[in-house]
Amino acid sequence: MSSERDYYEVLGVARSADDAEVKRAFRRLARELHPDVSEAPDADERFKELVEAYEVLSSSERRQLYDRFGHAGLRSRGFTPSFVDFGSLGDLFAAFFGDDLFGVGARARQARGADIAAEVEIDLTDAAKGAEREVPFQVAVTCSTCAGDGAKPGTTPVTCESCGGSGRLQAVSRTVFGEFVRTQTCPRCRGAGRVVAEPCPSCEGAGQVLEQRMLEVEIPPGIHDGQRIRISGEGHAGQLGGQSGDVYVLVRVRPDPRFVREGNDVFSTVDLTMTQAALGARVSVPTLEGDAELEFEPGTQPGEVRILRGRGMPVLQGFGRGDHRILVNVALPRRLTDEQRKLLEEFERMANEETYRPDEGFFEKLKSAFR
Ligand SMILES: [Zn+2]
Ligand SMILES: [Zn+2]
Repeated sequence: MSSERDYYEVLGVARSADDAEVKRAFRRLARELHPDVSEAPDADERFKELVEAYEVLSSSERRQLYDRFGHAGLRSRGFTPSFVDFGSLGDLFAAFFGDDLFGVGARARQARGADIAAEVEIDLTDAAKGAEREVPFQVAVTCSTCAGDGAKPGTTPVTCESCGGSGRLQAVSRTVFGEFVRTQTCPRCRGAGRVVAEPCPSCEGAGQVLEQRMLEVEIPPGIHDGQRIRISGEGHAGQLGGQSGDVYVLVRVRPDPRFVREGNDVFSTVDLTMTQAALGARVSVPTLEGDAELEFEPGTQPGEVRILRGRGMPVLQGFGRGDHRILVNVALPRRLTDEQRKLLEEFERMANEETYRPDEGFFEKLKSAFR
């Protein structure tokens, strides 16, 4: 018995700690104190102590014995720390080296496929309605000729001689208190455990081929420029049966020269001629759902705003819609014929204060237009 320090103290856990906490504490400390990592002069000693504490507290039988009778209890039952006994530590180290504790990945056998970025451009009016688009993209898929194992049909991959099929190589390092095994991904088979003697002609042994595909993308109404739609599992195939990646479709909403979008509201302008504004008119204006006829009363002023409530953009993944605000612009004549000038001069002679007097509530109306 090398150590008489309290095992709970060594692991830094409470006496009531459960198995998971003990394991967690051990992993954390092992990462810190392992002699290959730690520069401390007493690293060997401390690591040895740690392993011993873990060996006791991770076994319910030993732990009970220790809780009741302490170090003496363990000794009386013939417990000796097994850090020099390589075999019995095997599982322990596999467990934590397998967890990539020291950055030597033994889990590289399966890997999730990479994500793919795709892009689609739609009009603002389509963004208002929602749209379906076919988006072309290239994706790595499992090779159908070899079903992904990379071997020429009729042949099978053979067990990798370097690692004996485990996909991992063990390197033994010696320390003062024994030998340690480090596990590394086998470089020859890259963790697969098997190597291809005759590569598949379709994929040249890669197990995957690139395929051109079309993706049906549902674009929800109200989408904004620059938003992405994620389509799970349609990305590149994973390695060795790993999950496929995702496709992220970037949606670009083409600006529409007729509308300015601000959040869920849209703005546009309508041009009335001087006489349309003065006499009143029915005018066709573009909206997100196509042209709409709008009635303008006699005496419509430039700067008036017509609000089409609920005719803006839909709220993405919500209810309701924004508004469509239409700003009235009045066009004045730039060139007049002699006859037109005469008529306007005559009009001017007949005009008085009443001709231009604002309606009651005009400013109220204007204010409400801007909310
Ligand atoms: Zn193939
Ligand atoms: Zn191998």
